[in-house]
Parts: sequence; C-alpha cells; structure tokens
Amino acid sequence: MTAQEIRQAFLDFFKEKQHHIVSSAPIVVKNDPTLMFTNAGMNQFKDLFLGEAPIKYPRVADTQRCLRVSGKHNDLEEVGIDTYHHTMFEMLGNWSFGDYFKKDAIDWSWELLTEVYKIPKEKLYVTYFEGDEKEGLEKDQEAYDLWKQYVDESHILPGNKKDNFWEMGDTGPCGPCSEIHVDCRTDEEKALVDGATLVNADHPQVIEIWNNVFMQFNRLKDGSLQSLPAKHVDTGMGFERLVRVLQEKTSNYDTDVFQPMIQFIAEKSGIEYGTDEKTDIAMRVMADHIRAISFVIADGQLPSNNKAGYVIRRILRRAVRYAYTFLNFKEPFLNQLVPLLAEQFKGVFDELISQQDFVQKVVLEEEVSFLRTLSTGIQRFEKYQASDNVVEGNFAFELSDTFGFPIDLTELMAREKGWSVDLAGYEQALKKQKDDSRAATAIDTGDWIIVNADDQSEFVGYDDLEIETEIVKYRQV
Ligand code: ATP
Ligand code: MG
Ligand code: MG
Ligand code: MG
Repeated sequence: MTAQEIRQAFLDFFKEKQHHIVSSAPIVVKNDPTLMFTNAGMNQFKDLFLGEAPIKYPRVADTQRCLRVSGKHNDLEEVGIDTYHHTMFEMLGNWSFGDYFKKDAIDWSWELLTEVYKIPKEKLYVTYFEGDEKEGLEKDQEAYDLWKQYVDESHILPGNKKDNFWEMGDTGPCGPCSEIHVDCRTDEEKALVDGATLVNADHPQVIEIWNNVFMQFNRLKDGSLQSLPAKHVDTGMGFERLVRVLQEKTSNYDTDVFQPMIQFIAEKSGIEYGTDEKTDIAMRVMADHIRAISFVIADGQLPSNNKAGYVIRRILRRAVRYAYTFLNFKEPFLNQLVPLLAEQFKGVFDELISQQDFVQKVVLEEEVSFLRTLSTGIQRFEKYQASDNVVEGNFAFELSDTFGFPIDLTELMAREKGWSVDLAGYEQALKKQKDDSRAATAIDTGDWIIVNADDQSEFVGYDDLEIETEIVKYRQV
C-alpha cells in the first residue's frame, strides 16, 4: 500500500463506523496561552472534552498535522538520529465524545490493524494501565479483558502512570490509556531477546504506533478524581510509523513519505543515501525539518525573532547547518524541497500547494540570510589566532551563539589548522548562558511570562527559553 492509500484506508474505515471526517487544525495555535503548536490530534477538541463546546458529531476521525518541538513534547533532539521521531508528523485519530467507549475502540483498532492493514498478530504488543496505589488509581482490568479476546497474554503488558495514564493538565479530563506497539525485528533478532522486554524501551525496531486514551475521570483542584458522566475516547496513531510498518521498512525515512525528498537531496548533493551515517542523518534532518517549516509558514507563522517564529527559525537554521556542514550545500537549497512537498500533500493538506510560491520564497530568504551569517562566522574564524593551538571555549561559544556555528564545524575548521577546541570551556560558557537566562526568568513564579497582557497570543511558553539556548548537539552525529 502507498502512504496515500494507507491514510485513506484509515479514514474510510472510521467513516464506515459512522465517524464524521474533519480537517486537520492548523499546526500553529493562536489564542491558546497553554500551547504554541498543535502537538496531538485532540488539541482541536479540547473544549469538547472540557464540556465547554457543544458536541456536533459524537464520532470524529481525521489526520492531524502535529509538531513536537517545544513544551511537554519536544522530540527535536531525536529527529534524524533515530528514525521514528519527527518534528512534524501526521497523527491519525478517531474520537468518541460521550459515545462509544473501550470496547468499540479496542475492537476497531484490532480490526483495522489486523484485518484491513493485515499486520501479523504476533508482531503486535498491547499495553494497559497497571494502576497506581499512591494515586488511588485502579488497574484497567476492562482494557486487559478486552484485549485478551484477541491477544496472547504474553503480548499484553502492564504500563505505569507515565506511559499509560493520560492527563490534559493538573485538572480536567484524564484516564488510562492503552497503546499498541509493533515488533519489526527479524526472526533472528527475535530469537535473542523477548519482544515484551523491548516495548517502551526506545528500541529502534520495537515501536509504539497507536495510543488509545479512555477519558473517564475529571481531576478536581484538590487532586481527587471524579467519574465523568460522559466518557470519551481519544486516539492517536503515528502515520509515518504505520507506513513504515506496512511497507516493511526499518526506518520511516525509507518509506514513500520521505524517499522522494531524500532521493532529491542525495542527487543534488552527489552523495548517496545509506553510505555514511553522518550524511544520512543530515539528509533525514533536512527532509524532516522542511516539512515542519513549510507547514508552519503555510499556517501563518513566519520565521521571526520571538516565540513561535523563533522556534521555526531555529529549526530552519538547524537544517541549513546540517546541509552546509555535512552535505556541502553552500548555496540555498532547502527551498527547492517545497514544491515536492506541496505536490505530495495535495488533496491531504492543500494549505501548502495553495501557498507554495510564498512558502518557498520565505524559506529561500531565510536561507540566504543565514548562509550569510554562517560565512561571516567563517571569516571571523579565519582571523582568529589560537594560542597553544587550542581554540578557547568562549570563542567557540561566540561562534555558535552569534553566528550559529555548530561546535562540530568549529572543531572541523580547527582541526584543519592543526588546532583543537577547549570543549569543556565551551560547555561552561554554554551552561553559563543557560543559567543566566534561567535566573532572568526565575522571577516569574508561573509557567508563563506575560509579555503583553492585552493580547493572549503574546504569551510566551516557558519552554521557549530551552529552545533559544539549544545548541545543536552535532557531536551526537
Ligand atoms: P514515543 O513514546 O514514541 O515518543 P509518545 O508516547 O510520545 O510516542 P503519543 O503522545 O502517545 O506519543 O502520540 C500518539 C502516537 O503518535 C504515538 O503512538 C506515535 O505513533 C506517534 N508519535 C508520537 N510522537 C511522534 C513523533 N515525534 N514523530 C512521529 N510520530 C510520533
Ligand atoms: Mg514521545
Ligand atoms: Mg510513548
Ligand atoms: Mg504514547
């Protein structure tokens, strides 16, 4: 099945089960001080769960574009290095607002995966909430019993509060969840280690694909739980991961979701994908980041020097630096991927194709200006004289902070001159900046810094700071 067919099969399946298919909400969230970007399918339905908006359709399904680069969900560091966390990804979801509950949700997810998508049953593991005595939460026996109809007991695993209990916030709707994981290892690998021990263990071939949340409680201000009169289902399945499983690949980037872009990058750089881990990571980062950047711009957020605009600028620079450093793209290049993407998402998220030229132009302008800074930094470096053949930590920090130099690039250039870099000094300068920024905001007691109290969209998430001071960890490469 192609990615397109896989997505369509999901929507058709739930349509047949009387779900109303809705459009994805924009990735950029306006007027919600608690959220900068959509990070889950349920975001657009928050008011329904809170009972603050009328329920028009009790059953809904969609594919939602999500971004996980800030706040509670920040996967940026993993992206490109692992092969299943993206900055932007599609979350396929089905919802019940006070309508069906655990039984139908579990029956249907099993039916879809094993009968429509035909994933071999023995590859699947499911988890259920094991309970939490301290919190007064009971084990989700109901979910366990429902799974037992289909799944061998050795493939039904208990999960703790962190993995298997979902809460919207300190108060509000919450409940146990049940996840589905797929063991994509080869038979030889399977013979070595029991798959059950690898679930939720960050194994690259035993991956979580679907989360089914059962909202059955309301957490009150005093921390106690009240049973919800109307119970809800909220599910989210990672589309790119599903495609990888169905196309029997070992990496999301080997599927037809990413291959057209990867191949284009490979061709233009003259470097084959799959030959060297460093250049592979660079290609994955570029293919991943351009999706996030393009959709954020198409959804109305331009790169800028603050808040959401800054987050996206950093992502773009991160991609440019990878391209420049590892694939030798010295001229603007990322923007050329926009038309490919727009074409790929035609009929799914038409926001991109309708603004393709605009998005491409914005990306190009950003690339031009950043590449200029990058080369100014290189000139600055050329004028620098290291004493004792060691580049001072403070200078390496200045290069990264002012000119956006990854430390690896500094190290590489230093090596060419027969110098080394005082990495400890660099780390220290980096830490000092982080501490200073933290100290500067420690005065605020809450999670939010109110920049402009008259305009909610001016609220700044506390995680902004993390991203501002985030220096790409090239050494991981
Ligand atoms: P993981 O444990 O792999 O980080 P998660 O538990 O944070 O995933 P959920 O919040 O449960 O993810 O989201 C529902 C589904 O969305 C996951 O089961 C997964 O398939 C997918 N997903 C989550 N984060 C990402 C990501 N960064 N890139 C791609 N897919 C993702
Ligand atoms: Mg996660
Ligand atoms: Mg998880
Ligand atoms: Mg999960």
